[in-house]
Amino acid sequence: MAFDFQKGVLDKLETDTLEALGLDHGFEFSCNDECMGRCCRKITILLEPWDIEVMSRHLDMPGQKFFTTFCRMELDPQAGWPAVWLAHAAEGPCTFMLEDGKCSIYPARSGNCRTFPLGRAVRYLKEDHGDKVRDERIFMVDRMQFCLGGRKGRTWTVKEWLDDADVFTWYQMSDQYTELVDYAMRELAVRQWMNDKVLRMIIPFLYAPDILRKRLGAAADDITHEEFHRRRMEAVKLILTDLAAGFGFGPRADKGVAGNSGSLMERVGKILAQGK
Ligand code: SF4
Ligand code: SF4
Repeated sequence: MAFDFQKGVLDKLETDTLEALGLDHGFEFSCNDECMGRCCRKITILLEPWDIEVMSRHLDMPGQKFFTTFCRMELDPQAGWPAVWLAHAAEGPCTFMLEDGKCSIYPARSGNCRTFPLGRAVRYLKEDHGDKVRDERIFMVDRMQFCLGGRKGRTWTVKEWLDDADVFTWYQMSDQYTELVDYAMRELAVRQWMNDKVLRMIIPFLYAPDILRKRLGAAADDITHEEFHRRRMEAVKLILTDLAAGFGFGPRADKGVAGNSGSLMERVGKILAQGK
């Protein structure tokens, strides 16, 4: 079920039937008291590392604790990459929904929660001469029947809606993550070798920045959350590139792990501490 929405969007991208909206496209929408919270009762909210980081910080909870308490993860066998979603929202109702249907973590709600009814898909295409081209589309999510938001709503442009949702930092962080996922799938062929042991190794880098900060002694004053996110994604890239080489995949496949200078953990530590 968690993969259905993703797959539906990917299928539309592949068949070029996902209508992309420009920033000045107008649409009508306002949340409606009559259906307040119906959308949070049984819905798959896919999460990325930045979503989990922001929500856990808002709740003053370690990332790993948030992850084990509120999330579910499953390896997508087609992609070889884990999908993570809000467990309670999928089973219904979302644990963060208040009695009146409003969101108790509204300022920290996930990227997907904050932009509905708009969604965003990013994919990378390889041109004939090898360059990677980024294809980004903002689109209208198929409206759920019970959602009355389109009735007598305010008229917005896409840009106004996204500005109001304050989502641009999410988009920046999401781009770092999707670029990592694309690299892992396309260049490293993770589908061929991803397993539970590898997942356990990368989960703290994706979802538990506080543990890494503690190990490094790096407070948010020293390295901003946004910069630390970038470094974590780079660290995962490095780890997976080394592991892929051991399995015979990726840019280091011919060199194997022996071709590196310094241990993997030393190189990862350097990225986290120094950014490169
Ligand atoms: S996090 Fe908030 S907005 Fe998102 S599903 Fe839960 S209650 Fe709804
Ligand atoms: S209008 Fe739609 S998105 Fe808004 S509260 Fe109602 S069901 Fe949820």
